[in-house]
Amino acid sequence: MTDLLMQSADVARVGPGPRVIVLGRQGAGKGTQCARLATHLRVPHISTGDLFRAAIAAGTALGEQARSYVDRGALVPDELVLDVVAAHLGGTEARHAGYLLDGFPRTLAQGQALFEVLGAAAADLAVEIDVRTDDVLPRLSARRVCRECGAATSAPDAEEVSCPQCGGIAARRDDDTEEAIARRLALYDEQSAPLLVWLADQGILLTVDGTGAPDDVFDRLRGVVEPRLARLHAAAPERS
Ligand code: AMP
Repeated sequence: MTDLLMQSADVARVGPGPRVIVLGRQGAGKGTQCARLATHLRVPHISTGDLFRAAIAAGTALGEQARSYVDRGALVPDELVLDVVAAHLGGTEARHAGYLLDGFPRTLAQGQALFEVLGAAAADLAVEIDVRTDDVLPRLSARRVCRECGAATSAPDAEEVSCPQCGGIAARRDDDTEEAIARRLALYDEQSAPLLVWLADQGILLTVDGTGAPDDVFDRLRGVVEPRLARLHAAAPERS
């Protein structure tokens, strides 16, 4: 699997900015928090889910290959995922500014591939936004995502609403069906658990309570991420 990441020669020359991995059960508010944190840290937000959805919407070859997996709530095969990630981590912006990885790595194999190729520089820290399955189910069934700007909003009583960010139409995601939600949540528990243990063993895993209002969750997120990045900067000032 690492061969695929290696194929992008640029990938090994990542830049000095912060490199953060964010994990969380579907519906934990990960997309919203990642967008805010990436803006706050001034790093590119690389969401594999968004990249697949954009490829599907654009009808590209990648989109055609990924569609059946994404719609079913199944994991896209590693070859496709790693191709997409390598293409984005090889970009000049990611190399120089660092990055926030959202939705990747999702399995132990993906995590190990990332660290094998980039070494310890692959991530300064990983944060899990922790929300219990019972709490994310109502959030997911009420989630509407803007077709224009991708912002998520909650609308338990309507299939489509106007996006509060841009005025576009926000609707249910194709993979927010009951069946696909159940599959994605089961996969998270099954596939991400060993990854979380491994990240904890690397000494880079932090956990944030994801319950409550988005502003409160973001404050908690900043509260753990900023001191950790500041300590890394103090230990190796040339890195930031
Ligand atoms: P997300 O927006 O993170 O919930 O991702 C939506 C869908 O994209 C997932 O249900 C998977 O089908 C696919 N996907 C995103 N990231 C990955 C990944 N790292 N590995 C495999 N499949 C992925």
